[in-house]
Amino acid sequence: MRLPLRRVESDPDGRLYVLYRPQSTVGRVEEAQFEPRPLTELEKERLAAIRSEVMAIAEAARSGDLTEESLKAGIEALRQIPCDPVRVLDAIHVPDDAGEHRAGLERILRRIPDGWGRWIGCGPGWYPIIVDLADAIAELVPEYEIHQVKEKYGTLRFYWGVPYRDLACCAEFHQVDPRPFPGASIGPFAPKDRDPEESRRLQEWFRRYDAHLASVEHKRVNEAAYVAAEADQDHARSIDQRIEALIDVAEEVSARTCERCGSPGVLHEDHGWLATLCASCAAESGFLLPENP
Ligand SMILES: [Zn+2]
Ligand SMILES: [Zn+2]
Repeated sequence: MRLPLRRVESDPDGRLYVLYRPQSTVGRVEEAQFEPRPLTELEKERLAAIRSEVMAIAEAARSGDLTEESLKAGIEALRQIPCDPVRVLDAIHVPDDAGEHRAGLERILRRIPDGWGRWIGCGPGWYPIIVDLADAIAELVPEYEIHQVKEKYGTLRFYWGVPYRDLACCAEFHQVDPRPFPGASIGPFAPKDRDPEESRRLQEWFRRYDAHLASVEHKRVNEAAYVAAEADQDHARSIDQRIEALIDVAEEVSARTCERCGSPGVLHEDHGWLATLCASCAAESGFLLPENP
């Protein structure tokens, strides 16, 4: 994963300015751990209801019982269940079969930023692999983020990143003068029907932020961060490479570890679906050895 040293942003008037992000090991922050709000009991029940409704549709499709009417009825039933997708995405979803890996999986999930979906996309046989991998990366870059952990084409995928950090002066600015309506887009993609009062407050805030970015103080801090990051670039790059090497090893291990039970496994197939499984888990779930391996 290539990480940019510079970040270009535009202000409300469409002018571009450049922020330097120190992709550097200088001035490390402490370990990044998000504190997501857990789902309420009611939200959990609704999510379970959605899951079972979706599973019922999938089961009917597999057994050949799915008709147009039953699909419509299923979708209608799903529509009836109130659910806030953002809450579901950002809530922490520790898998039911976490077992002894619960704490390790929670550490993984708390590294996933809002909006990516805090869940684990692989089976329990790989939990020890991903927990070891995540902890090994944390030793190299304590503040790294995890974006996705999942199975794809039968092997493990592990996507990560390093968060953009505000410069100290900007962080202070944001603390003293927090941005109104966080996440509201501005510029050409702003919604046309935005409340004028909301628009006015956003514009005014961006004018103040713009003034900060143009200030002598910001320029001094920005320059110092850039110089430090540049001096540290080779080191940062070598850490990137070590992380990628750790991920490569974990992917290799996943390719010979049963995703369900953790025993030695090989790639199996079921109607185009691929999974790394041991012989007994494959037999249980109807997966076969590929005909043309
Ligand atoms: Zn600043
Ligand atoms: Zn197995």
